[in-house]
Amino acid sequence: MPLYEYHCNHCNADTEVLQDLGDPPLASCPKCKNADIHKKISVSSFRLTGSGWYETDFKNGGKCGPKSGGCSSCSNNS
Ligand SMILES: [Zn+2]
Repeated sequence: MPLYEYHCNHCNADTEVLQDLGDPPLASCPKCKNADIHKKISVSSFRLTGSGWYETDFKNGGKCGPKSGGCSSCSNNS
């Protein structure tokens, strides 16, 4: 399900909404209920490959983590 980002010109709030392709766009700002809101370019794919996941995984043990089966020389076996 794609993630859409909306920007409200009234209260300047950015709102992220998960919507199906067939869903109608937001008609009003969820925060101030003003209709002066418009859709921004989707940022979902950028977010997933940006900061977060990968870096956290690496710091927590990298290749020796439970996800790859663990190893006998570190404490990441579970
Ligand atoms: Zn608003």
